[in-house]
Amino acid sequence: MKYCTKCGKELFDEAVICPGCGCSCENQVASAEEDKKSFAWAFLGFLVPVAGLILYLIWRDKTPLKAKSCGKGALVSVIVSIIFSIAFTALSAFVFMFADDPVFEEAYQYEMYDDMYL
Ligand SMILES: [Zn+2]
Repeated sequence: MKYCTKCGKELFDEAVICPGCGCSCENQVASAEEDKKSFAWAFLGFLVPVAGLILYLIWRDKTPLKAKSCGKGALVSVIVSIIFSIAFTALSAFVFMFADDPVFEEAYQYEMYDDMYL
């Protein structure tokens, strides 16, 4: 015995269409076997977030777990790049704040003189 993945009704093993809701159960069983979490897809999503997002949108109906792997990889990638850009911005702001430091100023003037006399 197997059960309809849509409505949960008991089905004959050879049933192709669910008598309860009319959905084709054979296709769903086949895709359900294929559907599993995949680190490879998550990694691809991480490397190419756009591809991960696209695959997530394509697969989310038929193979939700595989789609989630892609989506998660893409999400992690996006979060990591956001964290990095925030860290970089903070670092730049930090350096800028200390740009008033005499050492920086002196170096800057030095550069100006170089421009003037060369
Ligand atoms: Zn059904």
